[in-house]
Amino acid sequence: MTTIAHWLIPCLRQVQVLKQTNRLSHALLITGADGVGQEQLAREMVKDLMCESNQAAACKECHSCQLMRADTHPDFRVLDGEAASIKVDQVRLLVRQINQKPQVGQNKVVLITHAQAMNVNAANAVLKALEEPADRTYFVLTSSQSTSLLPTIRSRCLLVNVPTPTVDDVKDWLLQYPEHQELSSLFWLTTQPFRLLSIQQQGKTKMYAALPDQLSAMLTGSGSISEMLKGIDSNNIDDFCNGLAAILHQCICHSTGAPLDEALQAIYATLMARQGIQLLMLRYQSLQKLKSDLKKTNLNPIMQLTHELNQW
Ligand SMILES: [Zn+2]
Repeated sequence: MTTIAHWLIPCLRQVQVLKQTNRLSHALLITGADGVGQEQLAREMVKDLMCESNQAAACKECHSCQLMRADTHPDFRVLDGEAASIKVDQVRLLVRQINQKPQVGQNKVVLITHAQAMNVNAANAVLKALEEPADRTYFVLTSSQSTSLLPTIRSRCLLVNVPTPTVDDVKDWLLQYPEHQELSSLFWLTTQPFRLLSIQQQGKTKMYAALPDQLSAMLTGSGSISEMLKGIDSNNIDDFCNGLAAILHQCICHSTGAPLDEALQAIYATLMARQGIQLLMLRYQSLQKLKSDLKKTNLNPIMQLTHELNQW
């Protein structure tokens, strides 16, 4: 992926204009629904902020731009809350580092992605840093749950709201890249563009893409549960359950009038004939419980999932 997605461009331009006219706030909060590209937008903005030129966008030639490209800029720090919560010690260390003089250019930038993962003490430490901003230091935060951030943090930031692209926007975007076109077959699972990319990067596209046909075969008796669960183990059972849950969710929504992806039409007809809407909702709840139980118990996960699928 070489160019920025087109629905992110207006947000990027907005910040570039403010930068060029010296009206940019020292704190930015990029918000939007999960998977629409807040992190990608933030990364682009950070490059512009670190550039030593007076241009709106990064020049790509100065020493800072080169260091950013090599991911070795000493005046740029990142905290990522995607996998684990952000702790106060991490914030304090980062604030200490950022309070020193810049080593390369003039600006320093702290990027905190998935900022909702800050615990209360970490959030207070960030708030303190925002209240006493160091010279030419920018804080860029991203969050898909910005309302869970401290209101005092939100009020100190310039809010940049990333719009949610339409399904057609996402399709057009994927069409530009031959290597991503297979992802259009996963629209029944999600239309969040950057979640789709992450699925591909993790090598999970095939597993998800095969699921509707496998389920269809199992429901109509041309395939068995054990065939369907071939290759599923403790590493991917959570993803597999997410796929099943997405199918049930789509079918339940369709029963109340929402459009249904073509890949799920046959499954919907079979499931409605066998289960009806009440039982489908029960299966959905049971699947969610199974997912949570799998994390807590040592029972054989394939056995538990087989037991669940036997009731479909
Ligand atoms: Zn530059």
